[in-house]
Amino acid sequence: MNINKVVVIGSGTMGSGIAAHLCNANIPVVLLDLKTEIADKAKERILKSRPPLLFEKNKINILKTGNIINDFDHIKDADWIIEAVVERIDIKHDIYEKIFKSRKKESIVSSNTSTIPLKILSEKLIKEDKKDFCITHFFNPVRYMGLLEIVRDTLNDKNKIKLLKDFCERKLGKGVIICGDTPGFLGNRIGVYAMQVAMTEAIRMNLSVEEADSVFGRPMGVPKTGVFALYDLIGIDLMLDVLASFKKELSENDEFNKVASDLPIIKKLVETGYTGRKGKGGFYRMNKKNDQKILEALDLNTHEYQPAKKIDLKINKVNLLELINRKDKYGEYAWSIISKIILYSSSLVPQITEEYNDIDEALRLGFNWSMGPFEMLESIGLKNFFSKIGNINGNSFLEDLKKKNITNFYDQRQKYTEIETLGKVKKAVIKLDKNNSAEIYRFKDFNIVEFNTKANALDYDSMDALKKATDKPLIIINESMQFSAGVNLNYVMDFIKNKDLKSVEKFIKYFQETCKHLKYCKNPVISAPSGLALGGGEEVLLQSNYVVTHTNIVMGLVETIVGLVPAGGGCKELLWRWTKTEENKKDPDYAPLQVFNIIGYAKTASSPQEAKPLLFLDKNHDVIINRNELLPSARALLEKKVKITDSTECSFRLSGETVRKKMHKILEELYNEKKIFDHGIMVGKELAYVLSGGDTNLDKAINEDQMYKLELESFMKLIETQKTQDRISYTLKTGKPLVN
Ligand code: NAD
Repeated sequence: MNINKVVVIGSGTMGSGIAAHLCNANIPVVLLDLKTEIADKAKERILKSRPPLLFEKNKINILKTGNIINDFDHIKDADWIIEAVVERIDIKHDIYEKIFKSRKKESIVSSNTSTIPLKILSEKLIKEDKKDFCITHFFNPVRYMGLLEIVRDTLNDKNKIKLLKDFCERKLGKGVIICGDTPGFLGNRIGVYAMQVAMTEAIRMNLSVEEADSVFGRPMGVPKTGVFALYDLIGIDLMLDVLASFKKELSENDEFNKVASDLPIIKKLVETGYTGRKGKGGFYRMNKKNDQKILEALDLNTHEYQPAKKIDLKINKVNLLELINRKDKYGEYAWSIISKIILYSSSLVPQITEEYNDIDEALRLGFNWSMGPFEMLESIGLKNFFSKIGNINGNSFLEDLKKKNITNFYDQRQKYTEIETLGKVKKAVIKLDKNNSAEIYRFKDFNIVEFNTKANALDYDSMDALKKATDKPLIIINESMQFSAGVNLNYVMDFIKNKDLKSVEKFIKYFQETCKHLKYCKNPVISAPSGLALGGGEEVLLQSNYVVTHTNIVMGLVETIVGLVPAGGGCKELLWRWTKTEENKKDPDYAPLQVFNIIGYAKTASSPQEAKPLLFLDKNHDVIINRNELLPSARALLEKKVKITDSTECSFRLSGETVRKKMHKILEELYNEKKIFDHGIMVGKELAYVLSGGDTNLDKAINEDQMYKLELESFMKLIETQKTQDRISYTLKTGKPLVN
């Protein structure tokens, strides 16, 4: 079975997301709905989606739209038919009847249901058709969420399911976990239970929504939306439907029921239109007072909104043992949730899966947790857990572990895939070194550096690790979400607070030295990014010898947003790439003006396809749709000893004042149009100074070190200004740019 054509029925949130992702994978797809106009609207939504569902807009050209009456014939030659219509069994049954009358024998048919059991979906099918019918449960947004659960049963054609799994893994880049037909499958069964526990325990312990989200969030390795903000994101009304279906499918004595009862506050919110972000607000809302936007949080006792309070637990790194042993209400809350999640998950093995590892990986891929329940147990330590938990009677998984009297039980990671992933490899290899910000692993003949700070912001320790690890060929790669969101500006601001500008300069110089070292050291350096590669993160990429990138990345030199210019070699390196274009051979001002535009506007690319035309990536750099494949692909390059090191030093011929005047003119126009203001002019002029080569002309050659020097000088001038400092502080506090 080759999958060369797919029909998706239902063009709502999920159908359109699946169709868009098939386009990303270059698989022709037909999207059908009740009316063609509905599918056409979905197509428009795909094109406008933020973050974008498509790698690049023109991918949409292989998507056709239609309706289920006139265009149903497309089913006849489709290899895979995906049903993604509303969660109503009568409607789904009608559609299957029609599909199985038309489809070709070799095809496979699947439903995207989140809640209806396979046995009920397929109850009206004849045995022969049941062989080719399964559930493919994608997560929203489809491009970005790694998990795909394939739910099958004993009647399925095993070979077809395997082929479908391979296709979804290789072509669509999904982490495919095969599950049995149990309510909520793996991800939602535990993920939604965890949300419910976090909510009910917060109410029982009288914690505010901000307090709950600050514990059941980053300190636990869970995204910062925690529970209440996640409810708002998903939609409070949708969560009610999800809970109702769980209650319908689960046996009465299932622990889930204890945390799934209707809460009066939730009913009230939904009835009054507070359905979350898509409605008037939810547990949080944005309010406008005196022209200022204020984030407010719902008081769970008075049901009134109050300005949201920032809760700082003073935790930098996930350390569950420390968290649950805290002698305050946060420690007590954390233990209460974590212990319940571990108890519930372990009580379901082997009933929902024989492989506890699949539960962990489902939570990582489907809910972006940095570890699943069993990894949490391992990280707390069995002895610590058992001494704190008390009664585990009837939980045979835990009873067995206790009897064994062992300290570690966790064997492999990511058993759902054959790929030799970073997750698997780093468990098995030697840890060469570790500091506060990074780890170095030795694997056969090469090293791996993995950053581990918040958003992988770069500091002295990260740079030390990079320098140290180049004694062998090096791959820079992370399991956590982001490659690197840039140089650690908190660090820089601490120096500024102490009026210690010398230390800022020293730090940036060290970053320049590190990047230069990566570029010219004797061993090849490959970066394998995914997620954010911004500012300093992008500068590391630009000065690596080669990049093997995941399709879900955001790349850019965004320093001007905080009133700075790139100073780790970003200006220099991007300029060098543009200098080598044909256009620049004809006009030496072409490259500086292009780069002025890209960095000045802080342009970002949200896929490699968008990054290549901007030259953030070289056109020959590798693009990988399956994140798990990043490491093996980078490794293959090293093993094949492909020549990837280009150690010719950059040397520029720039027109200095001539091109600078052109840049100043652009700035003037922007100023007159009120698109930038006084400080914007200053930042723009510094950028212009660097990119024009400073005090130079076309007869003089400028080398790499001179460019680094120009970058540093401009950076220092800007960081000394109050306006830049205000911008940095605002962005560090809110995660958003300060709009004048
Ligand atoms: P949705 O309400 O956004 O879209 C459903 C679409 O189905 C609509 O465009 C509707 O016009 C169309 N439709 C209804 N009857 C139809 C018919 N007879 N023929 C063709 N089209 C028809 O729903 P959704 O959120 O995309 O959910 C679709 C499926 O995916 C459901 O089974 C749901 O349980 C599942 N799911 C949803 C999510 C999620 O986060 N929304 C996640 C995973 C799975």
